[in-house]
Amino acid sequence: MDAGVSPALADFDLASLQEQFAAWGLKRVHAARVLRTYYARDGAETDWAEHGLPSAVVARLAAGVSGGVSTLAARQVAADGTTKLLLRLRDGRTVESVMMPDHRGERVAGCLSTQVGCAMGCDFCATTKTGFERNLSAGEMVEQFLALRREARAIGRKLHTIVFMGMGEPLLNLEALLAAIHRIASNGLGNIGWRQITVSTVGIVPGMDALDATGLNINLAVSLHAPDDTTRAQLLPMGRRYGVVEIMAAMDRFQARRGRPTIIQYCLLRGVNDSVEHARALAGVVGSRRIHVNLLTYNPTGISLRGVDYQPSSDEAAEAFFRELRAHKVVTHFRRSRGPEIDAACGQLRRRTTVAGV
Ligand code: SF4
Repeated sequence: MDAGVSPALADFDLASLQEQFAAWGLKRVHAARVLRTYYARDGAETDWAEHGLPSAVVARLAAGVSGGVSTLAARQVAADGTTKLLLRLRDGRTVESVMMPDHRGERVAGCLSTQVGCAMGCDFCATTKTGFERNLSAGEMVEQFLALRREARAIGRKLHTIVFMGMGEPLLNLEALLAAIHRIASNGLGNIGWRQITVSTVGIVPGMDALDATGLNINLAVSLHAPDDTTRAQLLPMGRRYGVVEIMAAMDRFQARRGRPTIIQYCLLRGVNDSVEHARALAGVVGSRRIHVNLLTYNPTGISLRGVDYQPSSDEAAEAFFRELRAHKVVTHFRRSRGPEIDAACGQLRRRTTVAGV
C-alpha cells in the first residue's frame, strides 16, 4: 500500500486486517466478519452500519478504508457471453480481466492479469507492445477476481475456475501472486478450490520451481508455442534463456509433487509452428508425460515487434496438427477462441481505450 493512500479491504488478508484492527484499537474478531462480508458481497460497496458491527468499527471503516483499488473503465460483451473488463487502478493505469462462460451453462472461468503491461516480449502478443509498467498488488488481483464474480453472478452463474493468464508474467510477480491466490482460495473469503486455480508462464524455470516449492495444490500451464528452441526463441525471447528440455524438467518436478497433469499452451501460427513436423516434434517433447496440450487459435494483433504479420493457422493445418498429436497419444484439446469480436487477445482493449482516452 502506498503511504498516504487509504488501504482498501482487498489489500488485506485476515491476519493483516486483524493487525490493522488492533492498531486502530478495535477487536480483532470484527476483522474476520468485515472481510468475510466484503468477499460475500463480491467487493460491492455497502453501508457497514447495516451489518450489525459496533459503531466504532463502522466509523473506522468509513474514515480509514477506501472503497476499492480499482474502478470499471470499460466493459465489452461478446456474442458468446465472454466479457472483458478494463479496470482502472488507483494510479490511473489499466488492466484487463476476462470472464468466459462455459458450455455447461452454470459456470464461468476467469482470466486475471498480474502485471500492467509485460516485459516478456512474446512476438505475437499485444500486451507487450506497450512494454512493462509495473507489478500488480495482491489487492489489485483480488479486485479483478471479485469484479469477475460480480459479472458471473449477474448472469446467474458461478465463477468456478481462475487462470492467471492475462496481462503479464505471473512468476515475475510471485509474492503478490501467492498472496492473491491464498485470499482467492481461502475458506470464507474467495472459496475457489486450489485445484480450480491455474498459473500460466512463458517458462521462467526458477519461478516454476519457486511455485512448486510452495506445495500449493494448484495447476501449472506453460506457453510453449514451439517444440524446439530455435523456433521458440523467435517467438518468445525468454526461449533464449530457458530451453525446452529445462522447462520440461521443471514441469516434471511440478507434476511429481502433485500427481496431476500439467498443461502446455500452444498457439498455432500459420507457417511458423503449425506443420505436421512441428506436431511430431511436440509429441516427442511430451513423450509419455502426463501433459495436456491446449491448442489455441491466434487472434491477429497487427504487425509484431519484429515486424511479422502473424496469421492464424488454416483449419486444415490445425486439424492435421491435432490429428498428429492424437496419433501419438498426446491428450490434446482445441481451446476455441473466446470473444474474438471484442479483441480477445489480451492487451487489445487496453490499447484501444488508452488511444481513445476512455
Ligand atoms: S504472451 Fe503473456 S508473457 Fe508473453 S508478452 Fe504477452 S502477456 Fe507477456
